[in-house]
Amino acid sequence: MTNTTRRRRLTALLGAACLVLAIPLSAAADPVSKPGGPFVPPAEGDPNRAAILSADDVERELLALERRSKGAMQLDVVGQSGEGRPLYMATIGTGDERVWVQGRIHGNEPYGPDAALAFLKTLVAGGQHASQVLSEVTFAVIPMYNPDGSEAYIRQDTVHRIDLNRDWGVDQDIFDQLNAVRVQRGQNPLPQSTFDNYTQLRAVESQAFWYAFAEFRPHYMVDIHHQGTYYAGDTDDMTTFSVGISLDELMLSSDQWDTVRRMGVLAADAAGRHGAVTPTRYPYINIPEGVVSAAMLNGPGPEGEYADWTPRGAMFFESRGGIGQKSRGYLVKQNVDALWAIVDAVADGSIDTVDADRWDDILPRGGFLSNQAKFGY
Ligand SMILES: [Zn+2]
Repeated sequence: MTNTTRRRRLTALLGAACLVLAIPLSAAADPVSKPGGPFVPPAEGDPNRAAILSADDVERELLALERRSKGAMQLDVVGQSGEGRPLYMATIGTGDERVWVQGRIHGNEPYGPDAALAFLKTLVAGGQHASQVLSEVTFAVIPMYNPDGSEAYIRQDTVHRIDLNRDWGVDQDIFDQLNAVRVQRGQNPLPQSTFDNYTQLRAVESQAFWYAFAEFRPHYMVDIHHQGTYYAGDTDDMTTFSVGISLDELMLSSDQWDTVRRMGVLAADAAGRHGAVTPTRYPYINIPEGVVSAAMLNGPGPEGEYADWTPRGAMFFESRGGIGQKSRGYLVKQNVDALWAIVDAVADGSIDTVDADRWDDILPRGGFLSNQAKFGY
């Protein structure tokens, strides 16, 4: 989307006060989530830490998959991390629809690489289902977005100590749009100094993956995270899986808003088919500087250039952390099942027939239980 288009959309937004009245107040009234609280990471030598994939483990798996794929999967190094580790992206498929999957942008959220690699393995393994999907869809899979932070077992990168999921580009138009929406929602507009302090693709990881995004031009994106442990709605059940949209409805085109909600419905339905999983809806957030957000808003690149590409839908998954290795299996599986549900619906076109309003039927994430569980022990 060009700046002109965005300005037009912003103008339309400012004139659309009546639209706001149609939106449930609960969406705006949800408490703003503060992910990533204080925690004690598993120590070196802790058996649970040892079960978490390292950057070397992921590299080894990716190289093995590339060999096994006999040319079907291409493994690219799209850049280097701040400490000089390769930033890997695997691509596979020949289809016109393009899906981007990324994990572990937050280094202390352990199982994104497991889920991304498990998904990739089924694609590489072949068979009728995989072949059919690969003829309709091309994938870009980034199992480990933040290898330095993963090795240090911290949320941020290790050079700037910034959250890489708050480091994509936001231009003045997006910032103005954000403030217009905040005013619509009864929040105070952010001062201009907030915009000046946005980090704006400062980290080399952000720069490398932004260029990879601009080249790949995904229609759909999924970003795999972990959260602490929460209740499902006001029940006594624990939720192990939340589906999330990182932007206010008013920041998005109507097709994007429908598509991300459809992705969320598909993911929650698929994850919820297993007894162990109670899927929930992540609380309202509106963070244009997040990766999947900036992608959907056509945020600027490292040199102020534009990809002029906006995915139809880009969302995130949040798994509860594991209590030791016993729960690792289902925590990985719920992500893989949710991914497949979206991918199958993209491949056969049925995604557009999903009732987007069922998003509202997904239980909201409830009260907070524990943060310890986020970190794999
Ligand atoms: Zn995260």
